[in-house]
Amino acid sequence: MSEVQLSGVTKSFPDGHGGRTDVLHGVDILAPSGEFVVLLGPSGCGKSTSLRIIAGLESATGGDVLIDGERVNDVPAAKRSIAMVFQNYALYPHLSVMENIVFGLRVRRVGRAERQERGLEAARKVGLEAYLDRKPSQLSGGQRQRAALARALVSDAKVVLMDEPLSNLDAKLRHQMRIELRTLQRELGLTVIYVTHDQVEAMTMADHVVVMRDGFVAQAAAPVDLYTEPADTDVASFIGSPP
Ligand code: ADP
Ligand code: MG
Repeated sequence: MSEVQLSGVTKSFPDGHGGRTDVLHGVDILAPSGEFVVLLGPSGCGKSTSLRIIAGLESATGGDVLIDGERVNDVPAAKRSIAMVFQNYALYPHLSVMENIVFGLRVRRVGRAERQERGLEAARKVGLEAYLDRKPSQLSGGQRQRAALARALVSDAKVVLMDEPLSNLDAKLRHQMRIELRTLQRELGLTVIYVTHDQVEAMTMADHVVVMRDGFVAQAAAPVDLYTEPADTDVASFIGSPP
């Protein structure tokens, strides 16, 4: 399970006055297996809502979410082999690295021995097996990112969703984290869907960029094509391509 496709996905929320507001107007996204796809757009354009629908944390109002060609609209979050990495990695400060990694397994009542085994395997994948007893505060920024990724991988997810994971880091660390993340993603063959409002982040990290605007996909293309052939002047000015 590794290719993700959204087809004509719509979403409306109650507007608080008895009506509904449309926030996604028919979104098409393709994330092929093993690729790093970035959803890019200004605040409020619908990136997080799209990601939450893929994760199964929200349901779409219309359209289809397909994983390896299968409709998963009504499959709950826990049953999708998709993992989400939240802003700042959301590690529990009072738990050890190991306890953080296996937290979700514990919630799902996986037994202790199996938790240890799967936790160790996930930690090995990201090179953290020597740090399992540490607390998150005793890790470097890169190690924290790897712990968050291990927590995602422990459920055997091949698709990892990330919602602005680096947005609160300083510029230097952010740059280093981008490189590390791409290296790990390639090594592990993960499909990543990564949300950001940062053009530089999108253009430097993505295999494909999906530019969103007001609940629509304005353009989906490889960074170089986006830069040289923006679909319209709004895309051009947003990503900063030459006029
Ligand atoms: P982004 O992540 O691109 O900043 P979001 O997907 O968070 O955008 O939000 C898109 C739009 O949907 C915004 O106008 C936001 O206010 C609205 N929205 C998001 N979640 C909810 C919700 N639970 N109820 C009502 N409106 C929402
Ligand atoms: Mg958001």
